[in-house]
Amino acid sequence: MNAPGRMPSNRPDAAARCDDLTREDCVALDAGDPLAAMRAAFMPAPEGWICLDANSLGACPTAAADRVQALMQQQWAGLRSQAWGLPEWLEGPQRLGAAFAPLLGARADEVVAADNTTTMLFKLLDYALRVAQARDSARRVVVYEADGFPTDCHVIQGMIRHADGRLQARTLPTSADPQAMDAALDAALGPDVAVVLLTHGDYRSGHRWAIPDVVRRVHAAGGLTLWDLSHTAGAVPIALDASRADFAVGCGYKYLCGGPGAPALAYIRKDLQDLDWPTLPGWLGHADPMAFACAYEPARGMASLIGGTMPVLQNAVMAAAAEVWSIVDPAAVFAKHRSLSSTLIRLLDERAARHGVELISPRDADRRAGHVAIRCPGGATTADALAAAGVIATLRRPDVLRLGISAPTIRHVDLWDAVSRLLDSLPH
Ligand SMILES: *Cc1c(COP(=O)(O)O)cnc(C)c1O
Repeated sequence: MNAPGRMPSNRPDAAARCDDLTREDCVALDAGDPLAAMRAAFMPAPEGWICLDANSLGACPTAAADRVQALMQQQWAGLRSQAWGLPEWLEGPQRLGAAFAPLLGARADEVVAADNTTTMLFKLLDYALRVAQARDSARRVVVYEADGFPTDCHVIQGMIRHADGRLQARTLPTSADPQAMDAALDAALGPDVAVVLLTHGDYRSGHRWAIPDVVRRVHAAGGLTLWDLSHTAGAVPIALDASRADFAVGCGYKYLCGGPGAPALAYIRKDLQDLDWPTLPGWLGHADPMAFACAYEPARGMASLIGGTMPVLQNAVMAAAAEVWSIVDPAAVFAKHRSLSSTLIRLLDERAARHGVELISPRDADRRAGHVAIRCPGGATTADALAAAGVIATLRRPDVLRLGISAPTIRHVDLWDAVSRLLDSLPH
């Protein structure tokens, strides 16, 4: 690959206004970054690359490889089955849950790391439906976004297919306009609604629901909320407890940097735990697994969500990420994310809008998820050229580019350079 940073720019920023942001301004914004130590705790991107794909796969914690190697040599090979006696093996799911809980605005005993997002969404949706119907058996409707992430839609469609008419769906049309989304939600609520499953941040537009407000409205209508936090956890502030949110699932491998295949984070508000058996009772979610009783008795709290044996190696990778997160104040990460995403939008406005690049994500930072989505002339061709120039973004066909912003690893100057390369990648 050629060195993208030194490529001549075919599109100098003609007509730049004197109050436009400059590259030097971006460098100044990065000076004294309080998260510099966090940036150093991740493997650097390949030379010349700018990775704006944390919405797909977050960066690799530097310590992860040593950790996994030590675990394999000292514990797996060195202790064989005796390693099951190590607390970090069997208690990994709870320890990880507790470590990431502050990023979700949750208590340590309200989060557990297990399964993947899809499986956990299914387990929590099924549980939430049983909780809702125990209160009011007439509530049979699940509300979800018609244009939501496929897996969320598939989970619901599968449940309805197998529910023999006892469950119905009501879909919301997706829009990047927060007011239109709010109005659509209000129109969908009613006395038959059991659970509302929403992706906190839309995977395409980057629209972000206001959790406290939505929870208030759903609760007023007698329903429960289940949040998919895939595009917000680790990027923007989330206050599950303070919002009285009911259930949530976070994706472990995106902004949280838990590595490919990282377990999902499941959240159940304390007072909603232990109201019924978990969806999938399994031996390690038993109150006393080592008694090997045939009769199931759920463990108390989030431990009941652990079905069978946990992915010990993957949990070690995620624990390396948790350690990096533990050295910083989440508020500092969210503040940096806000500064980065607002800077990116300003740069796109000032430098790319006149070349036909259109912002899709909300301008209101409080209603924006972890990424910034743009519509680009040239679609896939532009995306390919941008990738060849070392900017790793994700394309949603035909012409939407998503620029995922990882506050731990991205600098303001990276965004300036990424926009420069975008200008060079547009059709001429
Ligand atoms: C990435 C993503 C998932 C991932 O689901 P997995 O089961 O972990 O593959 C789920 N929901 C949304 C909205 C996502 O963006």
